[in-house]
Amino acid sequence: MSNIVCANIDKSYGAINVINNFNLDVSDREFIVFLGPSGCGKSTLLRMIAGLEEISGGTVSIGGKEVNDLEPRDRGVAMVFQNYALYPHMTIYDNIAFGLKRMKVPKDQIDERIKAVSATLGLEPYLARKPAELSGGQQQRVAIARAMIKTPKVFLFDEPLSNLDAKLRHHMRVEIARLHQKLQTTTVYVTHDQLEAMTLADRIVLMRAGAIEQVGTPAEIYEKPRTLFVAGFIGTPNMNFLNVVIHQVEDGWLLVGDGINFRIEGHGFRLQHGQKATLGIRPADLLVSNGADVNVLSGTANLIEFHGNDALITFTHGDIEIGALVKASSRAKPGDQVSFSLLESRLHLFDAQSGVSLREDDAGGATQ
Ligand code: ADP
Ligand code: MG
Repeated sequence: MSNIVCANIDKSYGAINVINNFNLDVSDREFIVFLGPSGCGKSTLLRMIAGLEEISGGTVSIGGKEVNDLEPRDRGVAMVFQNYALYPHMTIYDNIAFGLKRMKVPKDQIDERIKAVSATLGLEPYLARKPAELSGGQQQRVAIARAMIKTPKVFLFDEPLSNLDAKLRHHMRVEIARLHQKLQTTTVYVTHDQLEAMTLADRIVLMRAGAIEQVGTPAEIYEKPRTLFVAGFIGTPNMNFLNVVIHQVEDGWLLVGDGINFRIEGHGFRLQHGQKATLGIRPADLLVSNGADVNVLSGTANLIEFHGNDALITFTHGDIEIGALVKASSRAKPGDQVSFSLLESRLHLFDAQSGVSLREDDAGGATQ
């Protein structure tokens, strides 16, 4: 059992700074996901926690002990990579046992632990096989078993499911969630896949260009994105964005621009008359208009994507394309006039210049 504290972490390769003053407290037993686009520094951070990459500045502590100068094997961490690289000539049993044999753990103890771990991961029937005789998902489970058998204080995963096909990825995601429920080992999991992050994380650390953009539970990040970047990164289909200027009027505010003139009460937002802003609306928060609504977006449907339960209607409103998610049964046809109203309680507003949310509880720009 261990917490992890990253304090003022910097990382440079020569003159290039790739991580900039990263601060994070991971609680004991927590499942943290580092999420962000490729190249934002997720793997570099994970490798610094693991001890596979030198830390240029700041400290990493695990279980209350600074580990900057400890070898990877002395940090109590176990890491699972995207490329699980099992030894092809060894049996599954020997692959799992490999690390413990090197640590000179007695044979009977190894045997006992392999029994327990392979039962947990459903690998018992395959212990005598070679890796080539297992499916991709089973091989990835062996890689997890190899990490688990060391009974680490911390699990580190770097995009462990990226090589698997979509169906298997879903299956393994569920298995990893179950495993964490059972073992409760503190976990840091790196992915660029928002769905993996949303379904696995206690908290998501959303990163951009080596710095934290937002830390929060999946619901917090989805419902209250702190910046335009987070709003655009999280949620499928993507959030719609419209450029507006904010006008103060008697008992409320107007959002004017991009062919709209919305009237809102503005509760919960910090707004200024004349401020340029970006209005964000998730496709699922557009409701088919009943004609009596005040704030309406309408236009001509030009693309209908059928998803099964629902359908994404893309329509042109003035010069811009808007996506609206509707029940599949009520979907329109291309060329239809469509009309949607938006709920004020679900809209997002960001400062046009800084991209920071205008929500009141984001004042001060706190990230944690
Ligand atoms: P992610 O895992 O989020 O895709 P990485 O942590 O792998 O990103 O990389 C972060 C940044 O650091 C990238 O811009 C990458 O090019 C750079 N980088 C990673 N490793 C090295 C290295 N050995 N030398 C120079 N730059 C590197
Ligand atoms: Mg990476």
